[in-house]
Amino acid sequence: MTGSYHQSFVNRRVLRVNVGFLLAQGAGYQRVIDIDVPRVRLDADLDVDYLKGSLRLSRNSRGILVQGELETDALTECARCLAPVFYPVEFDLEELFSYPPSTSTVYSVEETGFLDLAPLVREEAILAVPMGVLCRPDCAGLCPQCGQNLNEGTCDCERETIDPRLAILRTRLERDNHPDE
Ligand SMILES: [Zn+2]
Ligand SMILES: [Zn+2]
Repeated sequence: MTGSYHQSFVNRRVLRVNVGFLLAQGAGYQRVIDIDVPRVRLDADLDVDYLKGSLRLSRNSRGILVQGELETDALTECARCLAPVFYPVEFDLEELFSYPPSTSTVYSVEETGFLDLAPLVREEAILAVPMGVLCRPDCAGLCPQCGQNLNEGTCDCERETIDPRLAILRTRLERDNHPDE
């Protein structure tokens, strides 16, 4: 929830994996690695919490194929009041990191033999978060006129929340109730 947002996070460098041992092997060689990291800042726009799962790294003729499933709590914001919310997501990864580095794939193994999972995880985590996440089911949202967070207090704005279609219905009902007018 919102209170712990400013807790510390680990550097995304923890998601750089040394795959030198795989590059030295022939195609078909593979290794499974476990991912288990606390809160990590994947980019300026995305923190995730408790990233966990296991990934199979397979050497093939074009580089390293990364496959597996990860779960985490991805930071997003409440669709009504914009408060930060950690939302639990799971997603599959299946991506080729080319080696030698190539422009024919989105991701490449670095010349140093490291493969950086952070940009890939960031991409998938963002896609896995649905639209319309709420900080709580009954979030009251922001006042559309003054921006006051209505979970924290009220404001003095006039609030005409009636739906326009209902407004038409109300006019009709009033007319029916007063046929002489
Ligand atoms: Zn909210
Ligand atoms: Zn207001």
